Amino acid sequence: MFKHLLFAVFALPFFLPASSAIAQDTKRSITDLGNNIYRFQDNMHYSVFIVGKQGLLMTDPISSDAATWLRKEIRQRFGDLPIKYVIYSHNHLDHVAGGEVFRDAGTFFIAHEKAAEDLKRNRAQTVIPTTTFSDRMEIDFEGRRIALQYYGPNNGAGNISMYVPDAKFLFVVDWIILKRLPFKEMYYYDFEGSIASLKQVLQLDFDKVAPGHSVVGTKNDVRENLAYLEDLRDAVLEGMNEGRTLEQMQREIKLPRYAAFANYEEWLPLNIKGAYEQLARVSGRYGQEK
Ligand SMILES: [Zn+2]
Repeated sequence: MFKHLLFAVFALPFFLPASSAIAQDTKRSITDLGNNIYRFQDNMHYSVFIVGKQGLLMTDPISSDAATWLRKEIRQRFGDLPIKYVIYSHNHLDHVAGGEVFRDAGTFFIAHEKAAEDLKRNRAQTVIPTTTFSDRMEIDFEGRRIALQYYGPNNGAGNISMYVPDAKFLFVVDWIILKRLPFKEMYYYDFEGSIASLKQVLQLDFDKVAPGHSVVGTKNDVRENLAYLEDLRDAVLEGMNEGRTLEQMQREIKLPRYAAFANYEEWLPLNIKGAYEQLARVSGRYGQEK
């Protein structure tokens, strides 16, 4: 009797964390975006894939666990199609780990040369792409044109866009964020580079965009994304030129046009800090304010 009681008392603390871990299960899903293009969600991360008649074109695997789940789901829904192409959006491992799960006989792993180089020198635990490009690359995927393009530094190394002209569809990770503020202090952003990339990508003829985080949107949402970064930059530059401190700017700068964006209240002061640090560093004015 005493032994049983002891067991019950000690078992309880072990039991509770296990049950709460189940409650926080990973949120994974597949959404049909039309034109045989699908979006894969793994919690806060998203990638896309295209289903052909003879095979699959995949993008970011996200992680081994995520990629394993996705392959199994795809098999159940579309049959046992081989993966022909894997395209990495950029070098960050929270997006491109797990490449080995997507490797079939003859799979092409494709990335911008700067992304592949960074993964290689960091001995990244994923497949290092061996098909690389510097500016543009086009793939013929069962007669569909898939256009990859690099615009210069924007977020991470070798971060590109994937454009499917026949579907007017665009996939971009991390430097397009729709209806949400950029993440906290924007540590991985090249601020001016992102603005320049957004201006260039807007020249493509697309009407649907699937970002690596945040909601799916339209070309107009990308224009708003660009306008936010420009307005943020201009407000911080003006504050710096008026001699205001970072803390003053964090308190005083409001961008009400974007108040409906997700995380507006929490992240605007952090975005201001990130913008300030980049602008001050580039202009040689870091730490000059009182
Ligand atoms: Zn990301």
